[in-house]
Amino acid sequence: MSQSQESNTLRRILVLGFGATGRAVCEFAARHALWACVSEQGCLSEGQQNWLRENNIPFEQSGHTPRFLQEADVVVLSPGIPLELPILEEARRRGLPVLSEIDFALGMVGSCPVIAVTGTNGKSSTVEVIGKILQSLGRQAWVAGNIGIPLISVIDEISESDTLVLEISSYQLEQSRGFRPHIGVLLNLSPDHIRRHGDMRSYANAKGKLFANQEPADVAILPSTLTSQFEQGNARRVFYDTCFERLPVSMERLLPHERSNLRAALAACAGLVPEFDVSKVPMDAVREAFRLPHRMETVGAVGGVRVINDSKSTNAGSAIAALRAIDSPVVLLLGGRSKCAGYESLVDEIAASDIREVILFGEAANTLRHVFEQHPRVESAPCSVRTMREAVTRGVLVAQPGDVLVLSPACSSFDAFADYTERGDAFASLIRSQPGFENVQSRT
Ligand code: ADP
Repeated sequence: MSQSQESNTLRRILVLGFGATGRAVCEFAARHALWACVSEQGCLSEGQQNWLRENNIPFEQSGHTPRFLQEADVVVLSPGIPLELPILEEARRRGLPVLSEIDFALGMVGSCPVIAVTGTNGKSSTVEVIGKILQSLGRQAWVAGNIGIPLISVIDEISESDTLVLEISSYQLEQSRGFRPHIGVLLNLSPDHIRRHGDMRSYANAKGKLFANQEPADVAILPSTLTSQFEQGNARRVFYDTCFERLPVSMERLLPHERSNLRAALAACAGLVPEFDVSKVPMDAVREAFRLPHRMETVGAVGGVRVINDSKSTNAGSAIAALRAIDSPVVLLLGGRSKCAGYESLVDEIAASDIREVILFGEAANTLRHVFEQHPRVESAPCSVRTMREAVTRGVLVAQPGDVLVLSPACSSFDAFADYTERGDAFASLIRSQPGFENVQSRT
């Protein structure tokens, strides 16, 4: 870090929230001998409390009080923190800057180029692909952000000639003030996170902050279908769905939504690298980068039925993409905690698809059943069960050889699991324990 950047870090930091991001901010503070304190809404584990004590970081839990505001000169937010908390109003009243972790971390790096990717679905896959492409071109690219690597945790290793490839959620955008990526990519927009944002308009407004501070030298990449909804900022606009219409032949086996993400990734690289030549992109590495666990991941086969784990599909849009990616009759496992919106379009898609059976499970089963009942074109009623285990048993029973059994739940996992990875792992292990399970890995 340069001296001017170092001076940016001479702060007394109140860290709000002590999940992975809050912890990474504290580790940064500890590495730089900065004073930090933590305020956490929930309960801290014994291990977390010990770590904080060992690092001389004062903390409070089970609620945010103003007690640390006196000592802090900046408040850094974890992504889960809603902006309307009374503690934040008080901080602003006292004139304290309230920064997202992303804005705080970016204040520490110089002028290295930033590619930021947002959208309802495909963010993680797309940042991985962009990272792979840039690395193959000899650039040092750092993939971080909402993908599970807080930016602040890698910031000390970054130099000005490197490129940052950031996955940015609507929560992080909502919190941000001056965020200005050189290349902003908005992949798509469909209903999600309505509990947090209130309605689609606020959700879209948060996403639009990606472009809001961009200047003419920057690039805003989006699909042409969203152009009238996202007119923020002054960047040059590129419609990725009209770019690279002829992808290399080796990309034909990508799923339709992956091809769309690839176009956005190529447009981002072309925006950054003036001499970008798509024929030089190593497509094997790109295909590999799309193989993230819990996203359209083949688990194997049971009695001639291919089984796919798409546990990361946590909204209607991603379940629609799953159905569009499968050519065979489908047994679809749907359920978890409802996202409260978008399910009518999913049921439209189900009505138009070759479906053997839809099996509803978990907390959202009744809500989803109601959406099916209201739909004029659905011929057979879905089957409702209680748990994912029962859904798997039913799915294996009704699927015929040649069908595809897919968990693409269109709901969050928090009714029964810690997160989507735990749900996906539980699904895969239930499938592997079925009599006749075969470890077949073909994707199409
Ligand atoms: P995110 O980081 O935005 O959640 P992921 O790449 O982790 O995106 O994918 C999440 C889910 O969305 C997976 O089920 C994946 O198959 C699906 N998906 C990926 N790209 C798209 C897209 N462009 N449109 C719709 N669904 C997609």
